[in-house]
Amino acid sequence: MDILVERRKVSNALGKSNLPGLDYTLNPYIGCSHGCIYCYARLYSEPRVGNNWGKIVIVKDNIVEILAKEIRRKKKGVVGLSTITDAYQSIEAEKGITRELLRILLENNFKVSIQTKSSLVLRDLDLLCSRLELVDVGFTITTLKDEFARIIEPKASPPSERVKALEKISAEGIKTWIFLGPIIPEISENSFSEIVEIAESTNSVLYYDKYRVKPFMYGLAKEFAEKAKKIDWNAISEKIRELCRSRGVEFIPAFDDI
Ligand code: SF4
Repeated sequence: MDILVERRKVSNALGKSNLPGLDYTLNPYIGCSHGCIYCYARLYSEPRVGNNWGKIVIVKDNIVEILAKEIRRKKKGVVGLSTITDAYQSIEAEKGITRELLRILLENNFKVSIQTKSSLVLRDLDLLCSRLELVDVGFTITTLKDEFARIIEPKASPPSERVKALEKISAEGIKTWIFLGPIIPEISENSFSEIVEIAESTNSVLYYDKYRVKPFMYGLAKEFAEKAKKIDWNAISEKIRELCRSRGVEFIPAFDDI
């Protein structure tokens, strides 16, 4: 599937965050070519991109210059890179915008929390290692089955590759975490034990979140939406907690209602 790439000038770089643990959001792109079928970010993106999720990516052409100016007058805080796109989606290999943003943030002593589904983050290992005290890196893992991930997260790095990247990053002494979410009904559960084992071996915190059914999912992922409605999320949550307790893994529900 071809991706339509457009360019745009922006007037702001950092956004205010309402997400737990983050003061700012920083999204180098609008849209995400990873095209996850359950992605909620489409609801927070402009309609043309949201309605064609995974097919249109808008490059924020001047965001590096804007951040360089903006950062001087911003109060220090934690920057989430990214929250409604993946900063390491494939176009980043060509553009290198995320790398420049990361460099500016670290030079200005801002903390950076990276969440990705791409092993391209390894490209920036030198920057990450240069300021261990300022960075953490999280990988979203909803299943460890590569063949299934290809269906639900078509253009993201396969989970096996994400795990290797996580191991490498953790081995460098960078703070790491796994985001087990959204939990895909009847699919993610098969990987729970193994994901907790990976969290243990990489010394990663495990965040988790339920499958939050939205109207668009009835078109794209009807089967999961229907199953998610019937799931006992308390039981799922307890199962994850129990696995984490048995392996000494720190666990944190991503939001209060699970
Ligand atoms: S990687 Fe993240 S932002 Fe990109 S499509 Fe998947 S869930 Fe959405």
